[in-house]
Amino acid sequence: NGIYYSKREPVLLPPPHHPLDVITYIFSLQHNMQQIAFIDGPSGTTLTYSALRLKVRALAAGLHGLGIRKGDVVLVISSNSIALPCIHLAILSIGAILTTANPLSTEREIVTQVKDSKPVIAFTLSHLIHKLRATQIPIILIQGTLESRCVTTLHDLLQSDLKDMPSIDIKQDDTATLLYSSGTTGKSKGVVSTHGNYIATIAGNRVRYETEGCKMYICSMPLFHIYGLRFLVCTLAAGATIVVPPKFDMEEILRSIERYRVTLLPTVPSVLAALAKSTGAQKYDLGSLQQISLGGAPLGKDVTLTFNAKFPRIQIRQGYGLTETTGAIAYTNSDEENRRNGTVGLLSDVVEAKVVDPDSAKPLPPNQRGELWLRGPTVMKGYFGNEHATATTLDSEGWLRTGDLCYFDEEGFLFVVDRLKDLIKYKAYQVAPAELEELLLSHPEISEAAVIPYPDQEAGQIPMAFVARSPSSNLSESDVIKFVAEQVVHYKKIRRVAFTNSIPKNASGKILRKDLIEKNVPTSRL
Ligand code: AMP
Repeated sequence: NGIYYSKREPVLLPPPHHPLDVITYIFSLQHNMQQIAFIDGPSGTTLTYSALRLKVRALAAGLHGLGIRKGDVVLVISSNSIALPCIHLAILSIGAILTTANPLSTEREIVTQVKDSKPVIAFTLSHLIHKLRATQIPIILIQGTLESRCVTTLHDLLQSDLKDMPSIDIKQDDTATLLYSSGTTGKSKGVVSTHGNYIATIAGNRVRYETEGCKMYICSMPLFHIYGLRFLVCTLAAGATIVVPPKFDMEEILRSIERYRVTLLPTVPSVLAALAKSTGAQKYDLGSLQQISLGGAPLGKDVTLTFNAKFPRIQIRQGYGLTETTGAIAYTNSDEENRRNGTVGLLSDVVEAKVVDPDSAKPLPPNQRGELWLRGPTVMKGYFGNEHATATTLDSEGWLRTGDLCYFDEEGFLFVVDRLKDLIKYKAYQVAPAELEELLLSHPEISEAAVIPYPDQEAGQIPMAFVARSPSSNLSESDVIKFVAEQVVHYKKIRRVAFTNSIPKNASGKILRKDLIEKNVPTSRL
């Protein structure tokens, strides 16, 4: 039937109709409540599992007291800290829906997300409040100076009385998060992920985090992205101790690895490349580090070789997934699995896959390349308030079109070859060409625009713009770059511009990005 099934040990999932929320599930797997759950990187302050559970319950009661109910959307804009997991877990525990934004996003980007997701309240830090000034959302201050906009503070909510909290009936099918992804085409959309999706991703990834004696982890990924959030719930479910550095800073992370004897570092390929080149890494004792797990973007063969030569004792693990699949659905879990150069590993037990011919949708046998389709309990419900995008991404049988060009080998190892979809990945961050094209077209002197990924050694890909100027315009490359840079977060900046008379489009007006790529990107760089 052309379907690929997992070759991993079967995992047990709670029956889908059994009412269960992801937070209850996580704590049900945790037996030693005196174990330390979090260590604040810079200060060394710790929080045990039992203290974490108490904080989550108090905060949940506080949110309930503020009138937040099941199904309400709560926005969180913050850099990583040990307060952030409590906030995320408390929101999920009352059946409210968590939506997150990158704290570096511009006001324009955040307002767009607010208009789409319609949060009833927002958690943020005082220096970020100005990014919400165009909205009416009441604010809960995580840290910083109180302003009139703030209805309360995290500190005050944590003093709430647990007695005031009724029990809330949460089903696995209820929405847990709305994280934003552009999917295969168009602008960023809210990915509707359920409690059941998170429960399945925990079950499907459990084996990766349960390695005996390898349990000091570091949360170096942002908790606003599925990579960080999934890492958080999976490692808590495994009973790990997690060091939380405040933001992504290589020195800070290396220092924390040395100080806390960290055993596992999850990160993205561009960071591995930087580590492979850096001389600074030698300053620190990384002797405790057993594994680096990678995902979010392709890992170059050269990078792996350079890294292995420099740090022969540290094992590399790969993972592949999407926001739409609640994170990793394939991974390598041993040196033996990793040895097949370039593979992202075997499928997790909770998904099935097809590789289809992109034109005919006919399933393909091993070693033939086609679009990867996935089905299973970690696959999202759809895009929030966007039936059209949902229908073009999920078919009637529940198959998710990933937009990735892949193949399986005879033994079931998955290889990601290329991206068929529009998405650009700058250092594993998502950049949606459609969003930048709309922005470019808002410039009075730009009549047509198209954005494509241009290969880059350090970042993987950079956004490149093709711009048709209106007659008599003298717009320069740096004008275009500056115009966009002022309105977007750093990784969405246009970093290369070409002027053209017209943009190639098909009969229905769709930009032919592949034509632009084939004509303008030297084949040696593809
Ligand atoms: P996101 O939703 O931001 O996690 O982006 C998902 C996309 O990132 C996938 O559809 C792939 O294009 C890319 N991606 C994620 N992991 C890998 C990997 N291990 N190798 C290659 N591409 C990856």
